[in-house]
Amino acid sequence: MSALKPDLRAALRASFGDDMEAFEHALAQPAPVSIRLNPFKPSDVRGEQVPWCANGHYLAERPVFTLDPRLHAGAYYVQEASSMIMEPVFNATGFVGRDITALDVCAAPGGKSTHLRSLLSDGSLLVCNEIDPKRASILCENIWKWGHPNIVVCNNAPERFSQLQSFFDMVVIDAPCSGEGLMRKDPYAIEQWSPSLVRECTVRQGRILEAVWPSVGPGGYVVYSTCTYEACENEEQVERMMTMLGAEHVEVTGTEEHGIVRGKNGIGLRCLPHLVKGEGQFMALLRKPGMRNNGRSFRKVSSPVVLNTELHRMLRSANDLDFHQRRDLVHASHSTHAHAIEELIQAVDPIAPGIPIAELNGRHVKPHPALALSTLLDRSAVPSIEVDRDDALRYLRGEALRATQVSGLALVVFDELALGWAKGAGNRWNNHWPDPWRIRMR
Ligand code: SAM
Repeated sequence: MSALKPDLRAALRASFGDDMEAFEHALAQPAPVSIRLNPFKPSDVRGEQVPWCANGHYLAERPVFTLDPRLHAGAYYVQEASSMIMEPVFNATGFVGRDITALDVCAAPGGKSTHLRSLLSDGSLLVCNEIDPKRASILCENIWKWGHPNIVVCNNAPERFSQLQSFFDMVVIDAPCSGEGLMRKDPYAIEQWSPSLVRECTVRQGRILEAVWPSVGPGGYVVYSTCTYEACENEEQVERMMTMLGAEHVEVTGTEEHGIVRGKNGIGLRCLPHLVKGEGQFMALLRKPGMRNNGRSFRKVSSPVVLNTELHRMLRSANDLDFHQRRDLVHASHSTHAHAIEELIQAVDPIAPGIPIAELNGRHVKPHPALALSTLLDRSAVPSIEVDRDDALRYLRGEALRATQVSGLALVVFDELALGWAKGAGNRWNNHWPDPWRIRMR
């Protein structure tokens, strides 16, 4: 870790008081490495369990993740352990096993979204939004690799969601912040820090909180989190929501035994690197007063797009799916969400209204890379090419694979995990792994 600037040291001393020495000692230790397994995909990666997350595991050392094909197949997500407190916070909402509509409004690169998708009931709909277009593409990549169908991705400013009055049962705001909690992992967090950054972040967070509040239904929840220690970006934001908007603070219990502490005035949870095996994280749960009206009406509407039979055959439970076209891509999601997705299309123009399953080029229909990675794919409907690690890496680098007398479309599979499409061309399999997702490392 780089040396702390005097004004940063003073700010941290104000946050930590007598614990400053213990905190600085923790910062001098190596950052723990952790991953979260994907419950929708097979995986044999195991390590010491993160105590507050069923699928979270610490690794004894940091592997070269880029060279592990299982990462590219979405078998796990590399995530800092403290961020995984999303799990006890979600459990405190009472939405476990219930179909809800949720929004993650600051979602890229997708850590909290992929976690939330694993925690939500299968029939729930998750809308992931990211304001920055480049980061929104990375969000799409990670969401599609995770493989669950009921996800919509948007690329909007949070203000855009205010018109969807009472649309969501739950909104997650993992707000842009001054990043003090990342100092051990990321030297840039120290470099970029300044008192004016803290002030700018505080104003921005206030705007985001106010912008999304109308989209939360009565009895719905807001999860507010940052990775900084500044009270003005954490507890004071929550207190402002309570006085200005009438939000109720909900206490999350059962995490004390893991060293997670309460924030100032008993608000929210704080993970501190000298008390837990993880980085700095703040998370609070707020409730909008009122009674929840038993969720939205999941009524089926007829699909606006009709699929060709070849593609239809490749989908599991195709009759329960609904399809939406945006530009030249066809997206799928469960029919129960068709009505909600129509509303989202009208109000916020999602960049992906479901999981893209096909690309249309005139009369030609090409399966989309996201379909190969999705649980929607019926693997028995397409031939597979089982590859070893070397060939998997060749494929992920965008190279053609050697073959004899091959033709047609096939699925490249490593260690039971689908990676992507290849097209037979005699003595080679042509590579259909998307160019932006290619491994550039040698
Ligand atoms: N939730 C993500 C995860 O777990 O992977 C991390 C989100 S990061 C802490 C905050 C995100 O907010 C960034 O992706 C950033 O681009 C976005 N952001 C920046 N300014 C914003 C604004 N004014 N409104 C909404 N989002 C913003």
